[in-house]
Amino acid sequence: MAAGAPAERALPAAPGGASEPGAAGGDAAATPVAAGARGAAAEGPAPDDPLDAVAAQAAACRRCRLCETRQSVVFGEGPRRPRLMVIGEAPGAEEDASGRPFIGAAGQLLTRMLLAIGLAREDVYIANVVKCRPPGNRDPGPDEVAACRPYLDEQIRLLDPELLLLLGAPALKTVLQTTRGITAMRGQVLRTPDGRPALPTFHPSYVLRYPEARRAVWDDLRLAAATLGLTVPPRPA
Ligand code: SF4
Repeated sequence: MAAGAPAERALPAAPGGASEPGAAGGDAAATPVAAGARGAAAEGPAPDDPLDAVAAQAAACRRCRLCETRQSVVFGEGPRRPRLMVIGEAPGAEEDASGRPFIGAAGQLLTRMLLAIGLAREDVYIANVVKCRPPGNRDPGPDEVAACRPYLDEQIRLLDPELLLLLGAPALKTVLQTTRGITAMRGQVLRTPDGRPALPTFHPSYVLRYPEARRAVWDDLRLAAATLGLTVPPRPA
């Protein structure tokens, strides 16, 4: 863990020089947001907490076209010093409506996955690569991922988790900056470009569609538990 409280810093400009009205660094400070925020943020003093400040920037973000159709900016939620940070792809309809990540069927499976290795959902920080829902649950575009990536980078830097659990190919490719697929890369603790341990596995929504993937995910969770020094549950028969 990094020593001391991390300093707040402005997010880098959006790729391609896109303007970001009412967002980072300006005087249109926003209400701190723990999980998600609907529409434009309210005016007020800038949050003291660096993560709240980043969340407030995201709450007013217009860096990519997803701002035009979102109901909520689903920033992420969890403790400020998590041992494990889970990163998925993008909010779905229920997340967009509620402002909270992973609350639908995939989220319920994620909660059960975490419990299997002795972690309550509340012990883990949960976020997505992009913070706004792509219409119709389409994949986020490369430009949208690039535009949103500074928020994720800041979350990881400020939260400083011991291990990243990357759910699905978009999280794998964004965080590890690889073009290789999830099937080839899952099941091993890899390193992000800045040296942080990261374990890719299948996304819970994939497991819901293809139950035969459960066994692989179970193996990956056991590896996560071992990496964190938790009790490794036995492999199911
Ligand atoms: S997806 Fe990310 S970059 Fe795009 S508008 Fe939402 S918060 Fe901003």
